[in-house]
Order: sequence, then structure tokens, then C-alpha cells
Amino acid sequence: MQITGDMLIAGGSVRGNAGTLRAFDPARNAEMEPIFGAGDAGDVDRACRLAQAAFDPFRQAPLETRARLLEAIGERILALGDALIERGHAESALPKARLEGERARTVGQLKLFAQLVRDGRWLGATLDSAMPERKPLPRSDLRLQKIPVGPVAVFGASNFPLAFSVAGGDTASALAAGCPVVVKAHPAHLGTSELVGRAIQEAVAECGLPAGVFALVIGAGNAVGEALVAHPAIKAVGFTGSRGGGIALMNIAARRREPIPVYAEMSSINPCFVLPGALAARAEAIATGFVDSLTLGVGQFCTNPGLVVVLDGPDRQAFVEAASKALEKKGAQTMLTAGIASAYRDGVGKRAGVLGVTQVGQGASTDAQHAALPALFATSQSRFLAEAPLEDEIFGPTSLIVTCANVDEMVELAEHIEGQLTATLHMEQSDVELARRLLPTLERKAGRILANGFSTGVEVAHAMVHGGPFPATSDPRSTSVGTLAIERFLRPVCYQDLPSELLPSSVQDDNPLNLWRLRDGTFERR
Ligand code: NAP
Repeated sequence: MQITGDMLIAGGSVRGNAGTLRAFDPARNAEMEPIFGAGDAGDVDRACRLAQAAFDPFRQAPLETRARLLEAIGERILALGDALIERGHAESALPKARLEGERARTVGQLKLFAQLVRDGRWLGATLDSAMPERKPLPRSDLRLQKIPVGPVAVFGASNFPLAFSVAGGDTASALAAGCPVVVKAHPAHLGTSELVGRAIQEAVAECGLPAGVFALVIGAGNAVGEALVAHPAIKAVGFTGSRGGGIALMNIAARRREPIPVYAEMSSINPCFVLPGALAARAEAIATGFVDSLTLGVGQFCTNPGLVVVLDGPDRQAFVEAASKALEKKGAQTMLTAGIASAYRDGVGKRAGVLGVTQVGQGASTDAQHAALPALFATSQSRFLAEAPLEDEIFGPTSLIVTCANVDEMVELAEHIEGQLTATLHMEQSDVELARRLLPTLERKAGRILANGFSTGVEVAHAMVHGGPFPATSDPRSTSVGTLAIERFLRPVCYQDLPSELLPSSVQDDNPLNLWRLRDGTFERR
């Protein structure tokens, strides 16, 4: 499939005339072909109007068609073959094996959402029978189902060109809910975005759905993204990226005549508490695992362990030495973009200059372009609490070890930190009491709590939560990974005393969809 540099609107290619963009190969430090045409507010308007027009036909199409669409997208992504992996590799500098894994995850995620659509439990079908004899007033017949919110704007993530981008978790969950999707292509992987966008466009046509179900727009600068979030047809936004970008979009959404929800996943330093028993039993093993997790994917994971909390003493020293030794073996590698590499170097430079912070480890220099040199810092609990910038995410392979004088300081630190995607406990049986003390705080702070693992692997599953209180995300009630992600794009509607011929099939008396339903307070399938 050829990359043309066009936007994908109305089932075809549309050349943007508001400037040009080039994709960039960060490892070769070179611009790539072809030239992409940037769109403007007019292009956004057309894509959004078509999405609005497609909304009712799409949501009212049989659930089987919707499930089939998700599967067809996966099949067409696979059919792109090596060309997709080659392009993604060149645009992101991520290893081909990693991108192959990400492709499998993307396709698996689409299949999981197809299963979910067929299962229908997400409809939340609920029936409360009428009580005509009730005194003093009779009760009406009440029936509830969830419907999609409307067209959704998706901003793909730079660090997952496949699994969190054009056909990633936000798009899969929005389409599964029955929402048309308009994607703003991430400038860091324009060609990859077009290839995947064309696969979606073909799948939409194959399933006989209106072309407005999917569009891909391209922007030079913020204007296209701003116009997209401001467009009246858009009813929700999915975003993964920087805290500044997420907050800018939240502000636009809140200022609209009709404010809409923005589900932004932004910033997390993923604290890792190494409790005293674990530190005494396996300081070296934890240090090695931590460094592997820290440097995986050049540290460009939202779940990267950016903060390690330990108690003072000889075991702490053993941990720092082992981590420092393991880090020496990790070479500097090319980051996703020149901008991200320069932000990393800037962040690490500033951290080195903070009073009371010392550098305790460094990776090996290489001649890779736009590279991140891994860096490990250490400070005390009191300095950490005093210096707010130490809590800021530095996107890349750097972390801060914070030493606490006693367990009370550890608990105080847990209470102090901002909202997180994850919090990790490394613990032995002897640490259970301290873990129990920390747990209520960590539940308030993080979306996912791990024991004796590393936060960088995020499973796509029913019980996964990839979310958390601000600034990890803009809405702690949601997740952007796993089947629960569909809830972001649904809203409940109650039907009171509607004649049976007007009721949606999910809540009709004879249960034609064979759903599990809550009837008069009891789950049943009949
Ligand atoms: P970003 O700068 O926030 O951009 C993400 C997307 O949002 C891009 O499509 C960008 O498009 C758009 N955007 C950003 N600000 C906008 C605004 N004010 N108005 C309209 N659109 C806007 O993130 P990034 O380029 O992926 O990475 C930069 C930094 O984000 C990293 O250094 C890291 O700190 C953070 N990051 C965090 C995560 C995470 O998972 N937590 C993941 C990736 C990156 P335009 O640039 O075309 O406007």
C-alpha cells in the first residue's frame, strides 16, 4: 500500500492545503518521503459532520456488523505485512521486534473488543417492572440500556505507534461502543498512521458502513487538534501524551458551548516502594529488574519506574550499587523524536542541578542520534518533599531513588505524591504489615497496584486499569487499556413506559439478543 501524504476523509484521500509536514527518521536524522499535506478547520469540519451523519446508522447497525468491523480492521492491519513494521521502525526508532509485538497486541485488542461487542454485557440492559398497584403511587415500567455518546476525537500516542495510535485502544473502544472516530495523526509517525488509517477505511467499506465512521486528519501545529476538540459534533476525546497537551485539550473542551469529557492519559512517575524485608533479601535482583524495566523501550513508557523509595541502611547501599552497575551496561539509544530527546536531556540536566540530588548511575555513551543516556539520581525524603519539580515526569530512562529515614517517612511520601498510573510494592512476608499500612494510600493514588513485579507491562484484559487520579489521567474513573475502556464512550438512557414496539431490542421482553440482564434486581439470561 502506497503512502500518499493525504488525509483520509469521506472514504477517500483528501490533500491538505494548509502547509506541509515531513515524517522524520530519528535514527538516521533524516526527513522521509512523501510530503504530507496539513489540513485546516474546514477539513476538520467535513470529517466531523460526516462522523455525525454516520452516528445513527453506525450505532443502529447489528452488533455483529460492529464486531466484524473490529475484526476486519485487525485483518487488514496484518495484511499490511512488513511494510507497516518497516515504516513504523523508521519513524519511531523502535526495534522491529517490539513493533511486531505491538501489532499483535493491536490486533488482539481489536479481537477482544469484537468479543465484547457480541457479548453485549456492556449495554447494561436493566429492567424494572411496572408496579401498577403500588401505593401511594404506582411505579412505571423502567428499562435502561447504554448507548454511545457520539463521534469521538482520538489523539494517538507517540510512544505506541500501533497499539495506542490510529487503531489503538481509544479507537477500538470507541468503535466498539458505536462511536464514529476522527483521529488526529501524531506528527511523529505520519506514514504509519496513514497505512493503518487506510486499513480502517477499507474495513469500514467492507462492512457496508457509512464512510463517516472513520477519518484521519493531519495538522501542522496545534490548530487542527484544537478545531477537532472544539467541533460541536465531537462528544468525547481520547488523548495520550504530555501533561501540557492534555490540559490544553481539557481547557478547550471545558470552554465549549457544550462541554465534553476529555480522557487524557498524561503523566506518571510510577513509584516503586522497596520494603525493608525485600531489600534485605534481594537488593541485587530487584535492582537489576528495576534497571531493565527503566531502560526498556528507551524508558518511553507511561508506566516507567521514575521513582524508587527505600529505607536508609546497608541494604539501600547494596541496591544503589547494583542498580548503578546494571545501568552502566545500558547504552544510550535513539528516542522517538528529536523533540522528546531534547526534552529528556533538558529534564536530566535540571534534575542534576537540584539541591540535595546526586547522580548515582549512568548508562554508556553511544553515537546514536537523538539518544537518551540513562541516568539514575538519589535524594532524601525531605529534599523530595521540598522540591516539587522532583515529582515531574522526565520521559525517558531516568529515575530517582528516594531514601527514607524510617517507615513513617515512607508512608508520608506515599501520602505526598500526585496521582499515578501504577504503584509497586516489593515485599517479603515480613513486610506485610507495612504494605497493609501503605495500601489505603496507594489505592487513593494509583490505578494499578503491583506486588513484586515491574510496572512496564500492561496487559490488555478485562481486569486491567490503565488510569489513575490526576495528573496520571484527567478522569480517575476510567481506563484507557482493557475492556472497561468502552465505558468512557457510553451513556445510560432510561425508557419509561415506552410501547414494546419502540423499545430497543436489548430491553425487549423476550430478550432477542440473549443478553445477561438485571431484571428487578436479579441477573438473569432469559
Ligand atoms: P504531546 O506533545 O502532548 O502531543 C500529543 C498529541 O497531542 C499530538 O498529536 C499533538 O499534535 C497534540 N497536541 C499537543 N498539544 C496540543 C495542543 N495544545 N493543542 C492541540 N493539540 C495538541 O505529546 P508527544 O509529542 O507524544 O510527547 C511529548 C511528551 O509527552 C513527552 O516528552 C512526554 O513527556 C509525554 N508523553 C507521555 C506519555 C504518557 O504515556 N504519559 C506518552 C507519550 C508522551 P501537534 O503537535 O500536531 O499539535
